[in-house]
Amino acid sequence: AKEQGRGHWQFYASSMNAGTLERLGLESELRHALERGQFHLEYQPQLDLASGKVVGMEALLRWQHPQLGRIAPASFIGLAEEMGLIIPIGDWVLRTACAQARAWQLAGHGPLRLAVNLSARQFKQRNLLHAVAQALAETGLAAAHLELELTESMVMHDVEQATAIMANLKALGVQLSIDDFGTGYSSLAYLRHFPIDVLKIDKTFVSDITHDDDAAIVRAIISLAHSLRLKVIAEGVETPQQLAFLRQHGCDQMQGYLFSRPLTVSAFEALLHEGSML
Ligand code: C2E
Ligand code: CA
Ligand code: CA
Ligand code: CA
Repeated sequence: AKEQGRGHWQFYASSMNAGTLERLGLESELRHALERGQFHLEYQPQLDLASGKVVGMEALLRWQHPQLGRIAPASFIGLAEEMGLIIPIGDWVLRTACAQARAWQLAGHGPLRLAVNLSARQFKQRNLLHAVAQALAETGLAAAHLELELTESMVMHDVEQATAIMANLKALGVQLSIDDFGTGYSSLAYLRHFPIDVLKIDKTFVSDITHDDDAAIVRAIISLAHSLRLKVIAEGVETPQQLAFLRQHGCDQMQGYLFSRPLTVSAFEALLHEGSML
C-alpha cells in the first residue's frame, strides 16, 4: 500500500512538474507574442435569418507560434487574463478589428456590425472607456457599428458597478451583448435593467436543440429576449435541423460552421465579394 502510495505520489508530482513547466514556457512565450507579431484575428460571419444576408462578424483572436503552432484561445486567454496581458492584447484586438471593419466599410461592404469579445479584466479596467473611444476615433468606425460581447459572470459579479460601466459604454454609442447566455448565473430581474442590445445563445444549447430540454431553453431565451426588446443570436449552428428550429422560433441571427467557420481577412473578403447568402 505504501509502495502504491508513493508510486501514485510520484506520478502526481511528475505530472505537476510537466504542467508547471509547460505553463512557465507558455507564460514567457505569451509575454512576447504581441511584440513578435504572433497574433492575428479571424472573423466569423453572422447572418440575419430573415434575409439570409451577412450582417456582421465576430472577431476571434488567433495565436500562431513559430514552434508551438496554433494555440487555441481557450488555452491562453485565461493565462493572459491572470498575467494582466489581456489589457494590451485586448487593446490590440479592439484597434485591429475596428480598423478592419472600417476598411471593409470603405470598400463598399456594409454596414457590417463588428462584435469584439471583452475579458473580465478588460471590462473592469479604468481605462476601458478611453480605449474604446480611442479605437473608434483612430479608425473612424462609427460607434453604432461596434458591439462589445460581455459574459454573464462579468456583469453579475458586481451588478451595480457593471451597470455603471455598461451605461458609460452605451453613452459612447456602442452596442452591448451578453455572450454564452444561459451558461452562467444571471438574474432575470437584473437583465431587465442592463442596457444591453443582444443576447447570444450559447452553443451548448444549440448543439442539443433537437432534445426536448434544450429546445425548451432555446425557445425560452428567444421569447425572453424579444420581450425585453433584445435581438437574439444563436452561435454554434452546425446543422440544417438546428437552423430550421431557430428560424421557426423567430431567432434573429446566427453564426456557426453550417454557414462558415471563422475566416482569415482574405477569405472573409472573398465571401463578401461572392455576396454569399444562406
Ligand atoms: P466565444 O466568444 O464563445 O466564441 C465562439 C467560439 O465558438 C469560437 O471559438 C468559434 O470559433 C467557435 N465556433 C463558432 N462556430 C462554431 C460552431 O458551429 N461549432 C463549434 N463547435 N464552435 C463554433 P474560439 O475562436 O476557439 O474562441 C474560444 C473563446 O475564446 C471565445 O468563445 C472567447 O471566449 C475567447 N476569445 C476569442 N477571441 C477573443 C478575444 O479577442 N478576446 C477575448 N477576451 N476572448 C476571446
Ligand atoms: Ca463571443
Ligand atoms: Ca459565445
Ligand atoms: Ca463560449
